Amino acid sequence: MSQVILLGTGAALSDEHREHTFMVVTGAKGSILIDCGGAPIARLITAKVSLDSIDHLILTHHHPDHIYGLSVFLLDLWLAGRKKTLHIHGLAETLRAARAMMHAFEWERWLQFGFFPVEFHRISKKSRLPIFETSDFSVTTTMTKHLLPTVATRILSKSSGKVIVYSSDTEMYEPVAELAQGADILFHESTSLIESHLGHSSALQAGIQAQCADVRKLVLVHLPPHVDAKKAHAAAKKNFKRQVVVGKDFQRFEF
Ligand SMILES: [Zn+2]
Ligand SMILES: [Zn+2]
Repeated sequence: MSQVILLGTGAALSDEHREHTFMVVTGAKGSILIDCGGAPIARLITAKVSLDSIDHLILTHHHPDHIYGLSVFLLDLWLAGRKKTLHIHGLAETLRAARAMMHAFEWERWLQFGFFPVEFHRISKKSRLPIFETSDFSVTTTMTKHLLPTVATRILSKSSGKVIVYSSDTEMYEPVAELAQGADILFHESTSLIESHLGHSSALQAGIQAQCADVRKLVLVHLPPHVDAKKAHAAAKKNFKRQVVVGKDFQRFEF
């Protein structure tokens, strides 16, 4: 059984109820972390995800709310006794920022003390390109329309044949709807309710994307501070008639 667990559902400016948006996808044999917010280890422990199950981390882009937990994530995995390789996937720009952040903490010196191997894998900017496979999942990405180069992620569960898509940060954008075509669950950002902001989507626009992509369920994430969940739900429902969920931290979705 595969699951998505929302470890956070807030926008860059969030509130006391929502950590920044990131999530873990768990399968029978391993897990994939997508983005890396504030207190990743505490969140994973609360969600009862084994730290050792995480073999892959996808960083969708290098805005702080999506990658700032990376340094403490790596440090804490090491302190928890990790030995095996962690694979980190991101666009060239994202990996450059991730490495620079780790360099600021002089992580090169950690190697002298038995730090576990980390392998970086550059994601191409080509549309709908398969980036890696595990025994549970196959993963495909496409570029979004955001303020920095950003990827949306599509994950197929090999056991159920079901598909989830995470938009990451994006304006309403046809290639993201194409990536999400026919998906079982679309996790779409919703930084506002109705009004448009450069580089982001509203709940209303997330509903349009879900409708265009003909997905079965829409889950709103990357929500603004003190969002009125009823209003966000209603805004998304204007254009999307199937199920809409206003995501909450630690909510789980099977696929
Ligand atoms: Zn963001
Ligand atoms: Zn962003």
